[in-house]
Amino acid sequence: MIRCIFHVDLDAFFVSVEQLHDPSLKGKPVIVGGHPGTRGVVAAASYEARSHGVHSAMPLVQAQRLCPRAIFVPTHFGRYVEASGRFMELLDSMAPVTEPLSLDEAFLDMTDVCPDFKESREYAQSLKQRVRDELGLVASVGVAPCKIVAKVASDYDKPDGLVLVLPGEEAAFLAGLPAGKLPGVGPKTGQILRELGVETIGQLAALSPGAAHLRLGRYGDLLRQHAQGIDNSKVEPRGEAKSMSRETTFQTDTRDVSLLHKTLRSMCEHLARDLHSHKKRAATVTLKLRYEDFQTVTRQSSLREQSDMAGTFFDAASALLWHLLSANEQRIRLIGVRVSRLSGPECQLDMFSPEVQRTQNLEQAIARINRRFGEGAIRTGRSI
Ligand SMILES: [Mg+2]
Repeated sequence: MIRCIFHVDLDAFFVSVEQLHDPSLKGKPVIVGGHPGTRGVVAAASYEARSHGVHSAMPLVQAQRLCPRAIFVPTHFGRYVEASGRFMELLDSMAPVTEPLSLDEAFLDMTDVCPDFKESREYAQSLKQRVRDELGLVASVGVAPCKIVAKVASDYDKPDGLVLVLPGEEAAFLAGLPAGKLPGVGPKTGQILRELGVETIGQLAALSPGAAHLRLGRYGDLLRQHAQGIDNSKVEPRGEAKSMSRETTFQTDTRDVSLLHKTLRSMCEHLARDLHSHKKRAATVTLKLRYEDFQTVTRQSSLREQSDMAGTFFDAASALLWHLLSANEQRIRLIGVRVSRLSGPECQLDMFSPEVQRTQNLEQAIARINRRFGEGAIRTGRSI
């Protein structure tokens, strides 16, 4: 099956967040990192400052010499973490599986959402639009059948880029780029590759397996594969330390939907009780299935609000189940559900009122439909 992987990367993230806090900084050469009189280094620079040769990790003094008109602002890490949280939530609402790489970039596995690869351009465009409308930030997106190519693609046309690499065109897309553009090729590896006569990713791809292995060992084998546009690694959901889960292995493998639902509901009730007794709420629900051939898949879904209610978890998990059942005809050996991104009950709303519950259910149904058919496919009467 051809996968559809997005790599989403915010442009000049720290600077953009500072510009949101102080719009007078927009369009100017801005350098985040502190006062140039200090011994610090550049944490981030706007594209206007970069055009003067300023880049991150450069001493602030040197940055000022290169760009005397630059405006220096201190690093506000709390602001970036907060903006990053909202960015990741937005991604969670659009993708079944997300893997954050850092505060401002993530891989999304959109295979289930875009079964036709060519549809993915529209999805990427609506994702970029939502990042702009809801966060006031600009994202570059790379779309490809594997992670490594998607990552190179998101960097290819920055800022505000959208680059699609169609299945079969991965190696051709990479071939002409400098070897240093391949993730994992830093200055040291780059030097070794130059000694082997390798300047471009294409030359790395064409290197004899022996030569790459001799100088770089197994890492060389991997880089060569990546250079050929081959990367079978999965998009791995973020590793959460704090989560609670339940699993059930069936006596006999099954496709009986009512049995699957009954099992799922009972596990969600257990989880709700577990959360209650710890006075916790969860923001993410993950469904796990193991098929009769022992292949295991997980899908996660973000709740609109933190919850400790079995019904809310069941709604989210059964939607994920429906998705997986329609994607794979095998019988199910094991089903599991996990709730994560846990936190204390600081929510002010009366979560138990039927009104809140109804609203929550409605909002979740809308989120599911919009995720499948694009934002705006359905809205409540009120939001039109
Ligand atoms: Mg970035």
